[in-house]
Amino acid sequence: MTRRRFHAPVALLCDDACTVIRGAVLDVNAAGRIEYAGSAVGAPDFSGTDIRLTGILMPGLVNTHAHSAMTLLRGIGGDLPLSRWLHEAMFPAEARMTSDDVFDGTLAGAVEMLQNGITTSTEMYFHLDAQVEAMLTVGSRAVLAPVVMDGLPGQSWRRMVEGISTAIDERGLRFGDGARIELAYGPHSAYLLAPAALSEIAAAAGRRGALVHLHVAESPGEDAAVRTTYGSVPRMLEELGLTANRLLLAHSVHVDADDIAIYARHQVGIAHCPASNAKLGSGVMPLTDMLLAGVPVGLGTDGPASNDALDLFQEARLAALLARSGCLDAASVTAAQALLLATNRGAAALGRNDLGVLEAGRWADFIHVSVDVPAFATGLDVPDDQLIANLVWAAAARGVTDVWVAGQAVVTDGEPVLVDRRRVLARVAEAATRIR
Ligand SMILES: [Zn+2]
Repeated sequence: MTRRRFHAPVALLCDDACTVIRGAVLDVNAAGRIEYAGSAVGAPDFSGTDIRLTGILMPGLVNTHAHSAMTLLRGIGGDLPLSRWLHEAMFPAEARMTSDDVFDGTLAGAVEMLQNGITTSTEMYFHLDAQVEAMLTVGSRAVLAPVVMDGLPGQSWRRMVEGISTAIDERGLRFGDGARIELAYGPHSAYLLAPAALSEIAAAAGRRGALVHLHVAESPGEDAAVRTTYGSVPRMLEELGLTANRLLLAHSVHVDADDIAIYARHQVGIAHCPASNAKLGSGVMPLTDMLLAGVPVGLGTDGPASNDALDLFQEARLAALLARSGCLDAASVTAAQALLLATNRGAAALGRNDLGVLEAGRWADFIHVSVDVPAFATGLDVPDDQLIANLVWAAAARGVTDVWVAGQAVVTDGEPVLVDRRRVLARVAEAATRIR
């Protein structure tokens, strides 16, 4: 790749101040990193290729919780609560899925996410090699946390943990072009694994600097046994030593002030999945309490069988709407805060300071949002707050036209560059027929 300078009328850096740059340039080096992001006025001298865009440049969105291969299961058991949905609909179908099916499903999910502006996805699923291959095939960035759970026929949790440790030791914690793949540990939940297993995972991950990602307190009653012994799952995780290392918890809907204090004390990342929680009737996570406590909260789509769209713009809007409704305060989560949840804060929840912000040194994972849509009919020459409001409340993912990961174009004019979208979808239809 040559050095490139992207010019755009507006760039949203998605830094902590949610800075809006007018007359922006973004310089990307041959290694796929950002060299400069800011105003054209005062930009350093540049030699390379100039690319002129007419809309908004911003970081790619960071999805902190997904099971993308479940594109194959989309629409199944859509009116069941969590426990029945898992045991009656999902687990039986997943038992029939082969690694080829996981490849096809992950490929389709990754294409959908890229088209929606999501450049990083955190995945908890089976068949790691198939997921790696799918993500690299479409050019997406992913944090892959192979699932670990007890009670699967013919498999032990210990062997699953050893499999992850071996993969990290052999391939490295991060690998692939542009370090696109990061490996992590994915213990499913405290209700599908014993405390001893969680302790062992914490030790294995700690030795390797790896992220541990699990479901916590998604629905009421799922963790009754843990609550009886430890008070809550977060209290158990702290006691078992998991909070000492990188930890990312999905959901955390049913938590109290002490749990949130534990999250803040250890800077535990939270993957807030408002659409999935609402669809499964699980409840609403206390977002404003978490933000006030300083907890790094990102957004997750969760799997496409419980959402059912892989659209983080939708999650940002829904997160803010639910938070405002819950506390009867229109200022409780601003449009800018909602935007940062999907970018900057998602990266923080993953413990990654190389993603989620347009800033020199970070990976050049970024998107172009067209302003040739009704949401921006008032034009770009409006106050910054109004511009961000138009993006968050009205524009949505349909405005995303172009996407780059590590400086490489992976979506152009709305279509994936490295795969044929129609063939990808045709393979999903074939696989879905097999596992039904
Ligand atoms: Zn999940």
